[in-house]
Amino acid sequence: CGIVGYLGERDAYPILIKGLQRLEYRGYDSAGVALLDHSTLHLYKKKGKVSDLEAEAAGKNQSGHLGIGHTRWATHGPPNDNNSHPHVSNNGKIALIHNGIIENYSSLKEALISRGFVFHSDTDTEVLVNLIEDVMNSEDLDLENAVRVALNQVIGAYAICVFSLENDRTIVTAKMGSPLVIGIGNDEFFVASDATPFLEYTKKAVYLEDGEMATINLDHGLRVRSIKDNRTIDPYVQQLQM
Ligand code: GLU
Repeated sequence: CGIVGYLGERDAYPILIKGLQRLEYRGYDSAGVALLDHSTLHLYKKKGKVSDLEAEAAGKNQSGHLGIGHTRWATHGPPNDNNSHPHVSNNGKIALIHNGIIENYSSLKEALISRGFVFHSDTDTEVLVNLIEDVMNSEDLDLENAVRVALNQVIGAYAICVFSLENDRTIVTAKMGSPLVIGIGNDEFFVASDATPFLEYTKKAVYLEDGEMATINLDHGLRVRSIKDNRTIDPYVQQLQM
C-alpha cells in the first residue's frame, strides 16, 4: 500500500528500502523492488515484511541508479511472492508498481489473453503492465505515450511507477485516486506515496492531481500532462516545511 521510486546518481536500493520502511505505517502484506542496472533488471519480491524482502535480496546484485519499490495490500489475489509487485510485462521489458484497483481488469485481461498474453499472477496490476506493452508495440509508441493510451482504457484507482529496460534515464508515473508525490533534487528525482521517503534528500515536491501523469527524465527534467487529453500542465513546485 505504498510506492517509492528513485532516479539519479545514487544507488537506488538503500533509498528504496529505507523509503518502504517509512511507509510501513500504511499497512501491507508483501514488498518488492525492481532495479535497473543499465539494461539489466534486478527484481526481488517477497510476501511478508520489508525485512523479509531485505533477506531475499541479501547477497544478490543490488546495483542500479533507477529503481521502484512497493508494499502491497492485496486486493486481487492472495498475498504471495508471485502476486507481489513489481510486475513485469510478457516481453520482460516493462516493470511496474501499482497502488489501487483496476476495476475493469477482467475484460482487459480476456482481450490480452486473446492477443497471446500469458499471466503469471492473480493481480489486476499485471493486466496493466501487459496492456502498456501491447499498446507500445501495436501503436509503436514510446513508454510515456503508451502509458497514457493504456490508462485511458482503465477504470479504477491507481498510483503507478513504470520504467522500460530500454531506458535507464526515465520513470513514468500517474495518479488517479491514490496518493503520489514527486521529489525534485539536484539531478535526481524521487517518487512516493507521501514525502517521508525523500525528505532527507529534498524538500522540493510536486503533488500530482488525479488524472495527471508525470515523466521524469535525467536529461529533460519533469514533465506533467493530463492523462485524458495529453495537455501539458505546469507543475506547482512546493517547498515543504517539514
Ligand atoms: N490491486 C493491486 C494488488 O492487489 C494493488 C494493491 C495495493 O494497492 O497494494 O496487487
